[in-house]
Amino acid sequence: TFLSFEGGDGSGKSTQLDLLADWLRGSGHEVVVTREPGGTPLGTKLRNIVLDAHNADVISPRAEALIYAADRADHVERVVRPALERGAVVITDRYVDSSLAYQGAGRALSAREVELLSQWATQGLMPDVTILMDLDPLEAARRRKTPADRLELESVDFHRRVRNRYLELATAEPERFIVINAMEPIEQIAGRIRARLEGRIHL
Ligand code: C5P
Repeated sequence: TFLSFEGGDGSGKSTQLDLLADWLRGSGHEVVVTREPGGTPLGTKLRNIVLDAHNADVISPRAEALIYAADRADHVERVVRPALERGAVVITDRYVDSSLAYQGAGRALSAREVELLSQWATQGLMPDVTILMDLDPLEAARRRKTPADRLELESVDFHRRVRNRYLELATAEPERFIVINAMEPIEQIAGRIRARLEGRIHL
């Protein structure tokens, strides 16, 4: 089973991912938690390049899209597919939809081109379920504690486009997406995710 978490930074997706992983482990599953960018040794190097605030004006949008695609190709081949093949539940913090939202809508690259690039990088591997943590970008910015990475220096308008594209993707594929209102308390959200997941897939 392949699950992805999506949403803006500060939406609480990493917290919820960890809670879900603990719950699944508690019910006896092997769970592999991973992330993009940065799920492999190569990915860690690419992550440092692409998130370095010093590179704010250095990376052009198409180059950025290719860096994320390279990270994703390595991630799928070395981490995701091997784990799925041995029967583990894989939960990734970000996947293809991040590129569709950030590179596609944020950077205004062609949605179709970004989609094709991701398909090429993943050889078509898509999550069974994608959990979208939906939050207003202003609220998300208010919650963040860590120093801003390169993307967080983007305008509110950028993050609005990202959020809207995520919601469009969810509307287009309701059978894959679970949309969560990230304003609710942590435990309530965790319970909601578990309940909706149980209704969706056999775990
Ligand atoms: O969620 P996490 O902190 O790992 O995300 C790292 C950063 O990379 C975020 O600021 C996110 O906006 C950005 N990102 C992106 N395009 C992707 C994946 C992540 O701009 N495809």
